[in-house]
Amino acid sequence: HAKRTTQQLFVFYCKEQTKLAQSRFRLDVQLRKAIKKQEFFLQFQPIFSLDKQAQPRVVKIEALIRWRNHKGDIVSPAEFIPYAEQSGLILPIGEWVISDAFRHLAALMHQNDQTLGLSINISPRQFRDHSLPLRIAQHLKQYAIPPRCITLEITESAVFEHEEQALEILKQLKTLGVRVSLDDFGVGNSSLFKLKHLPIDELKIDRAFMVDVPDSSADSEIVSTIVKTAGILGISVVVEGIETQAQLDFLRDTGCDCIQGFLLGRPMPIEDIRALLSIEQKQSAESAPTTEFLM
Ligand code: C2E
Ligand code: MG
Ligand code: MG
Ligand code: MG
Repeated sequence: HAKRTTQQLFVFYCKEQTKLAQSRFRLDVQLRKAIKKQEFFLQFQPIFSLDKQAQPRVVKIEALIRWRNHKGDIVSPAEFIPYAEQSGLILPIGEWVISDAFRHLAALMHQNDQTLGLSINISPRQFRDHSLPLRIAQHLKQYAIPPRCITLEITESAVFEHEEQALEILKQLKTLGVRVSLDDFGVGNSSLFKLKHLPIDELKIDRAFMVDVPDSSADSEIVSTIVKTAGILGISVVVEGIETQAQLDFLRDTGCDCIQGFLLGRPMPIEDIRALLSIEQKQSAESAPTTEFLM
């Protein structure tokens, strides 16, 4: 009996493995086609500065990739980025993201005559690719974008799994003048202490920490401790996943620099970002004192 069960299990296992391999192969073929047919597009989610005196203001935007597949369905990056990372397809996809996001930012800054930050997600494999700093430099030059406008969002695993190599790349990016952010901070195994030795400009505190803030005093305490410690280390903080006014008020009181979340803005097409910026410009023009009459 035992033998038969093992055999059955083995057959089952093989079938499952085959199914998995087949679905991976399909995804591989589809993603390769998607690159060629330009089925990817970007949305941009605004990131707001928090100021005790003023209204939250858009200071930068995060590029988030979307895939409209051959059936016309929109596929979330959570579904294909991990696979693209595994297969290496993230390299051409990531290259496309950088160049398309830079193109949009350059057009926006030109039309609105204002500077704006841009955050781009960089997967671990992209980060470890030796040519990344050089290619970023080329894109900066092509679109005449000041390096300080760009923030590269990397994850803890990209840094801490190959620490020496990561440090070398971080130094090169620092020399280039772009900012580096640690995305999804707190869910992995990095600690604030480790950050002391890394040339990181920003922390993005993961949404998971905010779910029960401000109702849970423990969670609120954790978030405000991270914000304060980052401040001591000279690292700015963006908190993700702000969905309620109570969360916003809490973060403003803790002295958090920036927030991002559905309360203030969802990921949207670049045209909507442009509209958002011009509303802000109008509002600040209206609230500013009119100096003409004083002269
Ligand atoms: P992430 O970089 O941590 O991006 C934040 C994700 O949280 C986005 O999901 C965003 O839509 C979502 N989000 C923002 N505010 C809220 C909120 O208030 N509530 C809730 N429930 N969600 C919120 P999205 O766009 O589905 O992206 C998921 C992940 O896929 C990203 O997480 C990032 O890791 C990855 N990703 C997206 N675009 C790219 C890309 O161009 N390249 C790479 N390598 N990864 C990307
Ligand atoms: Mg991100
Ligand atoms: Mg994040
Ligand atoms: Mg996150």
